[in-house]
Amino acid sequence: MADKRKPYQLVSKEWQSEDTIVDINGTRVGGGTFTVMAGPCAVESKEQLSTIASYIAKRGITIMRGGAFKPRTSPYSFQGLKEEGLVLLREVADKYRLNVVTEVMDVESIQMVGEYADVLQVGTRNMQNYSLLKGLGKIDKPILLKRGMSSTVEEWLLAAEYILVSGNPNVILCERGIRTFNQATRNTLDLGSLALTKQLTHLPVISDPSQGSGIRELVTPLSKASVAAGADGVIVEVHNQPEEALSDGDQSIYFDQFDNLLEGIKNYCQLEQKTINLDNPFSLEANPVRG
Ligand code: PEP
Ligand code: MN
Repeated sequence: MADKRKPYQLVSKEWQSEDTIVDINGTRVGGGTFTVMAGPCAVESKEQLSTIASYIAKRGITIMRGGAFKPRTSPYSFQGLKEEGLVLLREVADKYRLNVVTEVMDVESIQMVGEYADVLQVGTRNMQNYSLLKGLGKIDKPILLKRGMSSTVEEWLLAAEYILVSGNPNVILCERGIRTFNQATRNTLDLGSLALTKQLTHLPVISDPSQGSGIRELVTPLSKASVAAGADGVIVEVHNQPEEALSDGDQSIYFDQFDNLLEGIKNYCQLEQKTINLDNPFSLEANPVRG
């Protein structure tokens, strides 16, 4: 009889039936919670980052995104502030009691990024960079693994398997849209595959409706749809001045749109009986009634 075992093991539900909960300094991702990670596509300046951090922290967000190393399609586009960006991320995040998720682009930078970040992001272009995945398996920080833009679900899970088998069980998968024939959106957010992946693995799975659509007006509806599809969270790009952004301005939402997004998904989380993680201590101190 043909061997029906899946090619991946450690990430599969057969291997472990209970959900993995990735604990990011107290924010529990997975296991019936819903986590909103937010921030700019790229760190641009202390002023920009502080304005955004202060805004999201007051709303209870506990995990801030922001790229310091940017993998841009064109070598002439803004490549990120690099280590200076990491320093800013740490400084600003500490002030507003936020955790930091930021991209690591190569195996040589794991140590440096790990010194500043709480979660290390593997971008879509690096999902099958196996030396990077193996290196990330040897550290003890959580990894956010984006799906390759042309990768199958099986390839994505096998990429996660590399990290687990190398020793790091703390992996969050992120559906960020795939390449399709459709040119109307930047990518096609593959929520069907997200729902399927939730059935195949015990790892938390979140979505990125910002890279997934490229259009800011679609970020809130796709976030709601992600809750309904079973996602454990979303990662969204928000900017104080999207038209001035050095990367991904068209898909970065305005502050008032971010408020609408939060209000909208709160209702969906209630329907899905998910507890939304909005317990940044900075926000509770700023608005004690919310606690
Ligand atoms: C990003 O998060 O800004 C990014 C570059 O993501 P991706 O790797 O999914 O394109
Ligand atoms: Mn981006």
